[in-house]
Amino acid sequence: MDKNNKIHIIDVTNRDGVQTANLGLAKLQKTMINVYLDEMGIFQSEFGFPVTNHETNYLNANLELAELGVIKNLRLSGWTRAVVKDIVEAQKRVPKLKYINLSMSTSDQMIKNKFKGKIDRKEVLSNTADAVKYAKDHGFLIVGINAEDASRTNREFLLEFALKAKESGATRFRYCDTLGYDDPFTIYDNISYIAKHIKMDIELHCHNDLGMVVANSVMGAKAAIDNGVNAFINTTVNGLGERAGNADLVSVILALKKSSGFANNSKYMLDEKIDLSKAWKIAKYASYAFGVHIPINQPGVGSNAFAHESGIHADGALKDRRNYELYDYEELGRGEPDIIETGRMISTGEYGGIKGFRNVYGELEVNFECDEHAHRILELVRYANVHTQKPLINDELLFIAKYPEQARKILTVSPDALIPKDI
Ligand SMILES: [Zn+2]
Repeated sequence: MDKNNKIHIIDVTNRDGVQTANLGLAKLQKTMINVYLDEMGIFQSEFGFPVTNHETNYLNANLELAELGVIKNLRLSGWTRAVVKDIVEAQKRVPKLKYINLSMSTSDQMIKNKFKGKIDRKEVLSNTADAVKYAKDHGFLIVGINAEDASRTNREFLLEFALKAKESGATRFRYCDTLGYDDPFTIYDNISYIAKHIKMDIELHCHNDLGMVVANSVMGAKAAIDNGVNAFINTTVNGLGERAGNADLVSVILALKKSSGFANNSKYMLDEKIDLSKAWKIAKYASYAFGVHIPINQPGVGSNAFAHESGIHADGALKDRRNYELYDYEELGRGEPDIIETGRMISTGEYGGIKGFRNVYGELEVNFECDEHAHRILELVRYANVHTQKPLINDELLFIAKYPEQARKILTVSPDALIPKDI
């Protein structure tokens, strides 16, 4: 066992989260999620779809933010099908993209009923090998290979698939429990089997259809570590994702930091760069941006997560918080009062003018060099509000004022770029 193996987090809010029915984020909001994930010390953000027209400007601008050091350590990775033409297209549109996950369905259910006879198991392997090789030969630093529906895939074939991907140059294997079919024991078993044979880092991509998503993710990670490889858990902020969702970012971190089997065992090291004190901020922001309330009983960030009312509990918690709390609310960055303006309120936005705008930015202690500069930022703020259709929060306003060039690019979502054959 390699003592240095660790559990990292790859957040997929900006990919799985936004592809979900009834949910979506504006490109500025996706950018803020990346900025907050970076502040939180998360390893990687799967930040979008490099072959989707309307993502191009957002993806390129976020890679520029990484070059400028605004996004410091967070790796920004794209998602495409494991098809050479997707990788060619991704590089054409987003040339600075260096991290990518390539996805291929591996279960017989999907090979037969999704591909409908177009490709069989043999071609699943050969197409995947071609795509991985192409990506590695064309400048991608890290290529993850995703086995969609891995948990319903024949185990020997899944191993064959993972080995083929490794031979072709893949860096990581993503085990996708696409339908949330696993339980903590089956995933532990499956990951142990794969990790033992391929000795390649493993990503755990789990869904919550049967309510076991966090347990499955951490047990999959334990299996990876127990078999000598690094684990990368896929999460989303507030657990939003396809159908019943993905593994909630904060719950996964809490499970790894605070549960009895992980907290007290140095073998299962969570990436030490992760700063839990940013949890409250990112959870609140995602809730606002998606327009989805955080359930009151959500671990760590729900409004009841530290609430006590019944006589015995309240008395116990008052005597010593450890009587009824495993961890402190301060650790998640909670505890500051939310200030709600109840008097006159001046805001700025879609139809705002320069006076209101200056007032708002004055409160944020932002000064402009000249009138022209102020008017330029005001124009961007108007567009940003058209784009999000929600009052802009202070961090968004500050972002626009600090990085107007990237903001302009992020806000440019126009079908004008489509060539006639695309429509
Ligand atoms: Zn998924």
